[in-house]
Amino acid sequence: RAKAWGRGTLCVFEPEMDTHLRARLEMEQDLREALAEGQFDLAYQPIFSVVTGALTGFEALLRWNHPRRGIVEPSDFVPLAEDSRSIVEIGAFVLRRAVADIAALPGNLKVAVNLSPVQLAFGDIVGTVEAALRDSGLPPGRLECEITETALFESEQTSLAVLQRLREIGVKIVLDDFGTGYSSLSRLRLLPLDKIKIDRSFVQDATEGSASAAIVEAITVLTGRLGIATVAEGIETEAQWALLVRTSCAEAQGFLLGRPLPIAEAAAMARDGYGVPVALAAGFSAPT
Ligand code: C2E
Ligand code: MG
Ligand code: MG
Ligand code: MG
Repeated sequence: RAKAWGRGTLCVFEPEMDTHLRARLEMEQDLREALAEGQFDLAYQPIFSVVTGALTGFEALLRWNHPRRGIVEPSDFVPLAEDSRSIVEIGAFVLRRAVADIAALPGNLKVAVNLSPVQLAFGDIVGTVEAALRDSGLPPGRLECEITETALFESEQTSLAVLQRLREIGVKIVLDDFGTGYSSLSRLRLLPLDKIKIDRSFVQDATEGSASAAIVEAITVLTGRLGIATVAEGIETEAQWALLVRTSCAEAQGFLLGRPLPIAEAAAMARDGYGVPVALAAGFSAPT
């Protein structure tokens, strides 16, 4: 069936595609108003030391509280926000909010913020980070910027230069979802990196004696030699945790250890000097 789209355009669509496109256009329109309407919020997922079991920080995860759809997950709107470049503004909001929230907590907790390659390529990310740190008083070393390896490849030259500058001001750079993109281990030494986050897919396939367990172990050993720290994401079972504890991976996060939380609950966790759940802490010196 035929349908008029916008001004002076006439397109022919299958009914199914019509619905799909209509939904997408609607989302794009809604996204334009979401920031001004205060519909974005952050959830904080705790990250723990694999060595002591202590809480070391949180990853800030974006949530869109859509007026009709309810909570929308980032995978359903971040790509749209990237296409329209509104991720630059949204990302600036995330940085300011996350840095201010964590600066207000007791202890020297870190905050990890996900950066889109679009934020590195357009807009003034370095200026945004500097302003967020200055206004909140958070020391730069407690901010970790997460970027996926695929993102690094897409706009390599600009991205690398920007990451270098962030690093010069003392911010830590984390390669997110490591193992899903194209980075060879040897390439790691060429990137301005402080830490890599081992992707959930390896952790979830890591059973005793499996290839994935060997890969996790190998990654932690090699990065250690390069002076790069490791964090593992997606720990869901006690078996995965037990395997991880025997590697030299420094930190871990996952639903077993803690779900993404509203700031009030994350703050309570920080005040109580939280560590990994007691049953998992066997063999550790008491977390502080
Ligand atoms: P990510 O950076 O790899 O974040 C981890 C994702 O895995 C989060 O999903 C988290 O809720 C989920 N997760 C954590 N532990 C577990 C687990 O044990 N099992 C399983 N199955 N999942 C777990 P979320 O919040 O839906 O975020 C998805 C992705 O969206 C993130 O992946 C990140 O790439 C992107 N994202 C989130 N917040 C932002 C943001 O502020 N800016 C940008 N540009 N991207 C963001
Ligand atoms: Mg991340
Ligand atoms: Mg990740
Ligand atoms: Mg991931």
